[in-house]
Amino acid sequence: MSTSKYQTGRHFLQIPGPSNVPDRVLRAIDQPTIDHRGPVFIEMAERLFDGLAKVFKCSGPVLVYPGSGSGGWEASLVNVLSAGDRVLMFETGHFSNVWKEIAVKLGLDVDYVPGDWRHGVDPGIVEQNLGADTEKKIKAVGVVHNETSTGCTSDISLIRAAMDNADHPALLLVDAISSLGSTDYQHDKWRVDVTIGGSQKGLMLPPGLAFNAVSEKARKASKNAKLARSYWDWEHVIGANKSGSFPYTPATNLLYGLDVALDMLFEEGLENVFTRHARLAETTRRAVDTWGLENQCLDPKEYSDSLTTVLMPEGFNADELRNQILENFDMSLGMGLGQIKGKVFRIGHLGWFNELMLTGTLCGVEMGLELAGVPFNKGGAQAAMDFMVSENKPSKNRVLETKGAVS
Ligand SMILES: *Cc1c(COP(=O)(O)O)cnc(C)c1O
Repeated sequence: MSTSKYQTGRHFLQIPGPSNVPDRVLRAIDQPTIDHRGPVFIEMAERLFDGLAKVFKCSGPVLVYPGSGSGGWEASLVNVLSAGDRVLMFETGHFSNVWKEIAVKLGLDVDYVPGDWRHGVDPGIVEQNLGADTEKKIKAVGVVHNETSTGCTSDISLIRAAMDNADHPALLLVDAISSLGSTDYQHDKWRVDVTIGGSQKGLMLPPGLAFNAVSEKARKASKNAKLARSYWDWEHVIGANKSGSFPYTPATNLLYGLDVALDMLFEEGLENVFTRHARLAETTRRAVDTWGLENQCLDPKEYSDSLTTVLMPEGFNADELRNQILENFDMSLGMGLGQIKGKVFRIGHLGWFNELMLTGTLCGVEMGLELAGVPFNKGGAQAAMDFMVSENKPSKNRVLETKGAVS
């Protein structure tokens, strides 16, 4: 028996993924598994492919693998590249590091541009690096859209513009695992070649599905790409998907969940989903500011709508704070990853989430700060509540609309 407090009521899962799974999605998953080659499944699969295309905003195929997001990373590389190919990647934090390591293990020659873990990717540096590659040896550029370790986003439209300015033919690979379904994402418009997604963040599902949205150009590149691949090979999946089936047993019950999660995103309206995320992110930052704590992300233009990474005051350990909060209030906050372990904690505000869940979350953080003896100013949760009240008054100009934070 553990000596921990007996917990009642709902656990607060406020890590930035896996996120809270809606009850509707859980109920959908809890259905008998069916024949994945039968007519009912095929009808559902076709509906899923259409829905996913709307979420990725892409006209090309979206592949759905049983796998974690990391499988989606591997798929994005092995399908379009050959051993020794040069790839340009950018250090934004822990997740870019892990993706880069996969590329290295696969035998790619990675140019890894260092970063400070407090910013997104600078489009100027992208242009400079591609401009210097006069022989066009770089085959792909890999960017993490929303760096889940730091809460910094990178502007993919500006990175695309930088690639165009350098007149460089490299493929653009984007990890949108923690932005998809939370922040606007436009695969076609930004001419992304491979977008990597995962089920357990903004898509409101349990872990277990990985996605690749694929451009025409990427599919052409895959014809000549020599890295060994079997399970991740796009063409055999796309071939089977044409008739609503898969070349392996799909994660049938997770797909039931996806079917409902997509319905929910479209019922709310994707643009409203993004506005809600932006509003709850801004609310969170008001609390953090009031506490007198620092946001790990230094550039307001790059603030994440999915999560906020909060820096601890010097000499205080974030994991001790997280433990206090877990023990006393049954809430999980995200830990610091990689080189910022212990120095930051992360508040997830993505997916199936609302004002009162955020209020509970911020109250839990505020009480935890006090219990852990961290120096801070009280009133963060109150500042958040005041902001939410002002945002809901019918007659006023909403801050988020007037400042144009939602584009
Ligand atoms: C969660 C996440 C991943 C990893 O996904 P897994 O499902 O844990 O393999 C990759 N990139 C980003 C940006 C993420 O947030």
